[in-house]
Amino acid sequence: MRLVFLGPPGAGKGTQSARLTGYLSIPHLSTGDMLRKAIEEQTPVGRMVAEYLDSGRLVPDPVIIQVVGNRLRQPDCKPGCLFDGFPRTLGQAQALDEYLASLGTPLAGVIHLDVPEEKLVKRLMQRGRGDDHPETIRRRFEQYKALTAPLLEYYGQRKLLHTVDASSLPDEVFKQLKVVVDRLAQERASGDAS
Ligand code: AMP
Repeated sequence: MRLVFLGPPGAGKGTQSARLTGYLSIPHLSTGDMLRKAIEEQTPVGRMVAEYLDSGRLVPDPVIIQVVGNRLRQPDCKPGCLFDGFPRTLGQAQALDEYLASLGTPLAGVIHLDVPEEKLVKRLMQRGRGDDHPETIRRRFEQYKALTAPLLEYYGQRKLLHTVDASSLPDEVFKQLKVVVDRLAQERASGDAS
């Protein structure tokens, strides 16, 4: 089953991805993690993207699409995967749709983790990751609203969007997530997922 996690910075995508990929036994494809690893290993991609991550700007679509494409070609992604932090623009979403269509494995669903903005800022300030400076946080929100939020409509029109209230405690959020993915799995099994 191929799933996308969609949500603003601080919505809990990382925490819930770890739980959900364990539950579904599928790999976790976090583009943020992939890019941070590339930077740490000082690969050509890593050297190119470092300044984007530092400033909270999105890495250009062609770069990220190539990074994800390479990862998707690994055999462990064949049965499915959870995309976390990707797609983040309409261009990325369209590229993903095309690529998955060519593989014959379209998205089963897109899960939107919904949290009010005040709560998000508080969470991010407490997290203390390297790119969690107030200015970077502000830029990441702006980028989310301008470039990523339109994906809610894109996937809504395709009847793929499932919104989960992610403002409660992680255990409660995960319970709701399981309800959504169990239903998606059931629909797939009964063949009416289209
Ligand atoms: P994340 O860990 O998902 O919050 O991502 C951290 C940073 O990596 C973002 O602020 C962007 O600079 C970059 N990044 C991660 N995923 C993407 C993506 N799909 N498109 C563009 N930039 C990305």
